[in-house]
Amino acid sequence: MKNTCSCRKKGCGGCPLLALPYPEQLAKKQKDVENLLGKFGPVQPILGMEDPWHYRNKAVSTFCAGPGRSLQSGIYAQGTHRVIPVEECLLHNPALDEAIAAVRTAAAACRYEPFNEDRRTGLIRHVLVRHSRATGQILVCLVTAQTALPGSKAFVTKLRQLCPSVSTVVQNINPRHSSAVLGSAEKLLYGKGYIEDTLCGVKFRLSAASFYQVNPVQTERLYQTAIEAAGLDGSQSVLDAYCGVGTIGLASAAKAKSVLGVELNRSAVNCAIQNAKANGITNARFLCADATSAIQRMAQQGERMDVVFLDPPRAGSTPEFLQAVCQLAPERVVYISCNSETQRRDLEYLTARGWKASFIQPVDLFPHTEHVETVVLLTRS
Ligand code: SAH
Repeated sequence: MKNTCSCRKKGCGGCPLLALPYPEQLAKKQKDVENLLGKFGPVQPILGMEDPWHYRNKAVSTFCAGPGRSLQSGIYAQGTHRVIPVEECLLHNPALDEAIAAVRTAAAACRYEPFNEDRRTGLIRHVLVRHSRATGQILVCLVTAQTALPGSKAFVTKLRQLCPSVSTVVQNINPRHSSAVLGSAEKLLYGKGYIEDTLCGVKFRLSAASFYQVNPVQTERLYQTAIEAAGLDGSQSVLDAYCGVGTIGLASAAKAKSVLGVELNRSAVNCAIQNAKANGITNARFLCADATSAIQRMAQQGERMDVVFLDPPRAGSTPEFLQAVCQLAPERVVYISCNSETQRRDLEYLTARGWKASFIQPVDLFPHTEHVETVVLLTRS
């Protein structure tokens, strides 16, 4: 494994830790987690990647005009509308960069003009690509400023000639003055509009707008760690709070009596229901609700839950949610977090009320960035 790698694209801001050799990055993250969570119990050695390069399964590239009006694409320089052309990224799966290059060639052949953010002229804004590790399929989503995409059939034909693993192509229309990549309208240009990937033995459908972890290798290790910590033997009822498209709940369903997933975002809940069906999982239900209101209702009604998984956004959970966890009194709580500071705050609350952190495991999902995920198992002391 190479430990360091220099990237010539200065200023994109995507890899703030790139200058540190990977083992030092891991040591830094281990120390960060120990500083914040070490008071609750011993912190296991961080699970790093064997090969920390090219791990991302999703990429977004923004179009711009190059010399001689050539079509280029890349990443915004931090905090600006200036695009730094990028042809290869150390974090992308190489299949993504090949697909993006094919999109550029096909778009140039169709004479599609890059959108200019400041002057608001041109047609194509970004391309979003996703890769399935399980099937090798690629989804291409071309984001345009207007609905009309002249010669879209020729574009798709050319693109598929250049990159046959592209199995579906969609056009997303984003006319807004906004830093969000995707708009709300989508048109199917080729294929099914989604690709399929497998995580922990469960198939997931990925569309352009799907929520999905970007590092499949480490996500699998994260979920396996969390599910192992839950100690499931087929007899437990499981709550998967902040469940997204149902990944953790569905991956644990085979080892649980029942699973209830709770998620605020309606389209993620719909995906979770669809994912359960597509995998023939019949013991999982999903509820579109605020996790705090849902768990408070369960506690008031005296429902039983043996295991609670919670994987909240960066802001962490709420005192009301944690209070309801205490009332529900499950055997185990497995807290997965991408922000050790809010996790520390929430652990203070639970440990002051008789819970004990019996296992703390950091997992590196985002090499070369500052981020770290941590799984904490809580049991009642
Ligand atoms: N467990 C999932 C998603 C974790 S991200 C996975 O591993 O992929 C956190 C999720 O919490 C997001 O899907 C977000 O939409 C959801 N969320 C945010 N606030 C929420 C709330 N108040 N109640 C329920 N879900 C919420």
